[in-house]
This record gives sequence, C-alpha cells and structure tokens, in this order.
Amino acid sequence: MKDAVRDILVAIGENPDRPELERTPARVEESLLDLTRGYRESLEDLLQGAVFEDPSQTMVLVRDIPVYSLCEHHILPFFGKAHVAYIPAGRLLGLSKIPRVIEHFARRLQVQERLTEQVADTLNGVLRPRGLGVVLEATHLCMVMRGIQKEGSVATTSALRGNFLSDPRARAEFLALAGVPNPTR
Ligand SMILES: [Zn+2]
Repeated sequence: MKDAVRDILVAIGENPDRPELERTPARVEESLLDLTRGYRESLEDLLQGAVFEDPSQTMVLVRDIPVYSLCEHHILPFFGKAHVAYIPAGRLLGLSKIPRVIEHFARRLQVQERLTEQVADTLNGVLRPRGLGVVLEATHLCMVMRGIQKEGSVATTSALRGNFLSDPRARAEFLALAGVPNPTR
C-alpha cells in the first residue's frame, strides 16, 4: 500500500521525496488499515457471550453513539451520531456492544443507507426483538468539502424492524426519543 500512496502523491503533483512526506505512505497505510478494520474482525467474536436472557419488555434506547465511516465513492469520511432502540422479547445485548456493532460496519467503505440497514439486520438477528430501530445522522465530507452539500447539513437514514414498522405508536415513541422527525407524518 505504501507504494500506491507514493504513486498518489506523485499523481496529485506532490514530491514524495521531500522530507516532510517521508513517512506519509506508512502513516496512510496504518490509518487506512485501522479505519477499515471491520473487514478483518469477526462479528461472532465481538458478540460472543454478549447476549443474555431477560424477561424485560421495556424499550432499550442508546442515543448519540458517535459514528465515523468512509464513503465508498470518494474514500472520504462521513460522521455523525446513531440512535438505536429495541423492545426486547426475551433477550438483551450488553449495552456497550451496540456501539461496537456499529463500529464493525462503519470501519470499512460504506454508504450511509447500507450501514444503517446492516446494523439493524445484525441486531435484529441476534436479539429477535419485538421491534428495533436504527437512526443515523451524518455529515459527508465528500459533499460539504466539495460544496455540494451546505455546510452543517446532515443526512438522516433510518431502518425499522418488527413492531417499529407495524405499530405507529411504537415507531412514534422511538423517533421522539431519538429526537428525529417521524417521516410518516
Ligand atoms: Zn462520497
């Protein structure tokens, strides 16, 4: 990868031999491998022992989870916050694992819509809850830095499962708690 980064430096008109850039190919390789480590880590290992039986039927909501990912079209960051909620049906997931599942799918080349769906499908498959929702609000540098999107504008995606889809009251409660507008209204 270091040779490829060196080629990119030449292609953009830089001199990869100037002293300040000497370690740049190695740094880019290291950071890109870290930002895409989701490809190389096991979701099974990550979730090992994290799901437990519990009769609770109260909605579980984790708000404002920081999300950092890379858009697959430009390999530039998009970042923001995720809100995840579910109504359990006999199983709970350790709360700290929800951000880890998001990170697993965020640390790779992504589009925001697919990231949202993958997190929802994974949690839905593991928990088999009565209902589940994932909302992701993100700013895309490929748009704001290039002037396509206005500074500060945010793209919102949501993925709903179970009774968050079928029950308007459950959906409304989730979206109100997540602090995002209900798209069905
Ligand atoms: Zn992009």
